[in-house]
Amino acid sequence: MDKIYRVKMGMGGRYALEQDGGLYWLEGSIFGDYHTGMLIEDTPMKFTAPVLPSKIIAIGLNYKDHAAEMNKPLPAEPLVFSKPSTSVIGPDDPIRIPLWAGRVDYESEVAVVIGKRAYNVKAVRAMDYVLGITCLNDVTARDLQHKDVQYTRAKGFDTFAPMGPCIAVGLDPSNLAIEGWVNGEKRQSSNTDQLIFAVPELVEFVTRFCTLVPGDVITTGTPSGVGPLKPGDRVMVKIAGIGALSNPCVEA
Ligand code: MG
Repeated sequence: MDKIYRVKMGMGGRYALEQDGGLYWLEGSIFGDYHTGMLIEDTPMKFTAPVLPSKIIAIGLNYKDHAAEMNKPLPAEPLVFSKPSTSVIGPDDPIRIPLWAGRVDYESEVAVVIGKRAYNVKAVRAMDYVLGITCLNDVTARDLQHKDVQYTRAKGFDTFAPMGPCIAVGLDPSNLAIEGWVNGEKRQSSNTDQLIFAVPELVEFVTRFCTLVPGDVITTGTPSGVGPLKPGDRVMVKIAGIGALSNPCVEA
């Protein structure tokens, strides 16, 4: 299975493709035709977020056990909110914790990267519009989420959407083990077979009201076990078939 990485280069990045254990420069477009180029031998290198989405559409309360821990009823249809593109950071980039905002939580999530412009897509065709799957940490200022009616501020701080380390192309999102770790301790453990609304239904639901363009992201919600982060912590989202997204936390 292909894994697409974006290698940091100056202010931007260049795509690389992992195939059979080797890392190669990617030739072509990740949203069109691409193939492997030269083998990359000059490691180590720094990876950035694999895409810069025009928008992140996030799903809330999509695991029964998480809805229970938040003392909220199960939603009858997907609960959606968005995170701004300015919240995106890459692997190992620091999450900046605003101490004035109160409690700030990690939320380990499986995220879907859109590969083709999608509007009014039926669930049965949804995976034709998905490029692949990545890890996302839906970092949340929990006290502000409870205080504000809307989620925009609580979910929208700069650095509150770590993404990566890669896009696993063609990975079936229906049965993926997902874990959340803080400072080497496992805090979250579930599987996407526990999602209330699965990925194809989410693509149908979201594209019924807005167009998704290549690089946009749907993040599917977090399982139970969310908890606070503080400066000095290191948080990791781990998903089978993708890898680990690890970020340090610093004071904003
Ligand atoms: Mg979330």
